[in-house]
Amino acid sequence: MSLVIRNARLRGQTQPVDIAIEGDRISAVGAKLPVSGGQSIDAAGSLVLPGLFNLHFHADKCLLGEIMRPNVSGTLPEAIEITNDFKRKYDPAEVASRAVRAMEAGIMNGTTFFRLFSDVGTIGGLQAARGLLLAREKMRKYCHIQVVAFPQEGIVRDPGAAELMDEAIKEGCDIVGGLPWYEYTDDEARQHIDICFDLAKKHDLDIHMLVDDTDDANSRSLEYLALKTMREGFQGRVAASHCGAMAGYNDVYAAKIVDMVATAGVTISVNTHINLVCSARIDREPKRRGIARVKELLARGVNVITSQDDVNDPYYPFGKPDPLECASMIAHVAQLTLPHELEQVADMITINSAKAARVSNYGIAPTMRADLVVVGTGSVHEALRVQPPRRHVFYGGREVARATLTQELIS
Ligand SMILES: [Zn+2]
Repeated sequence: MSLVIRNARLRGQTQPVDIAIEGDRISAVGAKLPVSGGQSIDAAGSLVLPGLFNLHFHADKCLLGEIMRPNVSGTLPEAIEITNDFKRKYDPAEVASRAVRAMEAGIMNGTTFFRLFSDVGTIGGLQAARGLLLAREKMRKYCHIQVVAFPQEGIVRDPGAAELMDEAIKEGCDIVGGLPWYEYTDDEARQHIDICFDLAKKHDLDIHMLVDDTDDANSRSLEYLALKTMREGFQGRVAASHCGAMAGYNDVYAAKIVDMVATAGVTISVNTHINLVCSARIDREPKRRGIARVKELLARGVNVITSQDDVNDPYYPFGKPDPLECASMIAHVAQLTLPHELEQVADMITINSAKAARVSNYGIAPTMRADLVVVGTGSVHEALRVQPPRRHVFYGGREVARATLTQELIS
């Protein structure tokens, strides 16, 4: 099967090019390519990006907002508590059906790679993981999916969780999750991290933890995670989401941690949506934004990504989900508004995420995998500003979504 996308605008280039695809790979990129036969799509000068990423998505809980009671306090602890009621009744088929619905929306917005977090613990057992593994099977033609064995109720404070995580990995989960800050003490947070590394080494898997997702500046698990990453030789294989406590660190300690994170090659995933809603609920004015120190991380060369972790669930009531909306949100919250900063923001949902997921054949160049998004605007700036319906989405050279909506002003 061959396909050519004509008049595509690539980041950093002024003249449009054609992108030729053979099978699941890009075969050529250049002006006015002489490709005969096959399908031809006119991008009409639109920006074309490689497929977008969402590396932190609690798909097992998505859309529970349609049936749950509201989170009255708006805090994480209440969200965890009211979700437990649903988790006791989880059925893998039902979990999969919600996950598929949310992923379909994400794919139409250009997402071709998801990292789904499945709660694994003594409350819900393996039901959420089995649901998301089932969703992965159902969506295999549309996107790449990793499933995280994620201990939402902790590991040390939830005896049995470590064994269930091991079981979830044997059933197909391919990333080791973690939630060290949720343990009762610093010592147990460190034990939690040790257990996660033991699992990762045993099964040769990468790690993605939710770290210091609290307003307490004394929550210090990022420090130990970075240290452990260095000591275990896991540089480039660990991601830490949230790290909102960093907002409250004193500047001297923050500089030390940013340096350790850079040295350890830990990716930081900043999830501005949920932290704007849940963090700093008990701050009096001025209220913190509750996110990691993005500009300091970027300046030190840390791999920063952003992702949509919740879609209408007890933690966060919105979420399209759309990586461009996530990128726009972090541009706002981290004050990344200059032209080169908008490019940094676009990197977070593309090449930085590919680096975090260790995807090597990524980008718009010959031999790269043909996961592509015809965005519908001509520049990164416009893409972030307008977030238009994605005209075409390709996964492995196959068109998996397209937008046909037209809007016009009536005179
Ligand atoms: Zn999360």
